[in-house]
Amino acid sequence: MTFIRPEIIRPPSEHASYYLPLTSGCSNNSCTFCNYSMSRLGIRDLDEVKREIDAVSLYMNHHVRVSEQPEIVYMILRRWNGEKIFLQDGDALIYPYAKLVEALEYLNEKLPGVERIASYATPQDILRRSVDELRALKDLKLGILYMGVESGDDGVLKRICKGVTHDQIVEAAGKVKASGILLSVTVILGLGGLKGSQRHALETARILTEMDPDYAGALTLTLIPGTPLWDEFERGEFDLISPFDSLRELRTIVEKSDFTDCFFSSMHASNYFAIRGRMPADKERVIKQLDTILAKRDPALLRPEFLRGL
Ligand code: SF4
Repeated sequence: MTFIRPEIIRPPSEHASYYLPLTSGCSNNSCTFCNYSMSRLGIRDLDEVKREIDAVSLYMNHHVRVSEQPEIVYMILRRWNGEKIFLQDGDALIYPYAKLVEALEYLNEKLPGVERIASYATPQDILRRSVDELRALKDLKLGILYMGVESGDDGVLKRICKGVTHDQIVEAAGKVKASGILLSVTVILGLGGLKGSQRHALETARILTEMDPDYAGALTLTLIPGTPLWDEFERGEFDLISPFDSLRELRTIVEKSDFTDCFFSSMHASNYFAIRGRMPADKERVIKQLDTILAKRDPALLRPEFLRGL
């Protein structure tokens, strides 16, 4: 089957990376809030991946273009500094392990100047791999995995069809940490709805504490037309929390979580208010910042709805 190059969806911190597709869509295309839930997983032929790596190497070393490659390759290359690579798509860690190793070995051989390779990974992808397998990927410069946790509340995880439990997510995080690969996770404010808001926030703080990631980011739920959660909302079966309630959830998560050393932020464009800090050092400052905005309840202090993004 012809592989269709996916659109570029990547973590904000990968803005300067070269985006190399190994897959398209997501293997766990079931989460009810996510636009990948409407996608089908595509696995790219390894030879095609290698031909793109060859083209990248040729351009970086000799400024030569290969006509077979699509224009997007050169649009990315024109502003790429040669340091970071992000493997697309929704969970490139699903790429068959032996082929993933071969692709990374080839990358290292052709582009020895690359410093770090990154990928999204579902907890399921990580649980399928042994710590030794993950360590082998780290030796091939896979330096960071981005994992969507969404919630620590088993009830929410079940309702959104995440396909894993609180404990399984914690187990996956433990494997990543044991391998030495950096772990960056995201949680979603508002995913528990109105009734489940408090429990969602408390359980999310608990799972973050148990995972103890290197980076944690809070996003705010944005309903996407066509997704199952959008339909639940339309049928009146799911309530959105207010912007200030999302900040209350954020405050609970910051207050109740206990990290060893984690960069925590709500810088993502979906959020109504951005906080950032290294935890635990900045915890009190961030809580004070949130208390101030929660006390004022001034909508002018929030990111306007039209500026929010996915
Ligand atoms: S695992 Fe992640 S990318 Fe895949 S459908 Fe769920 S939220 Fe979306």
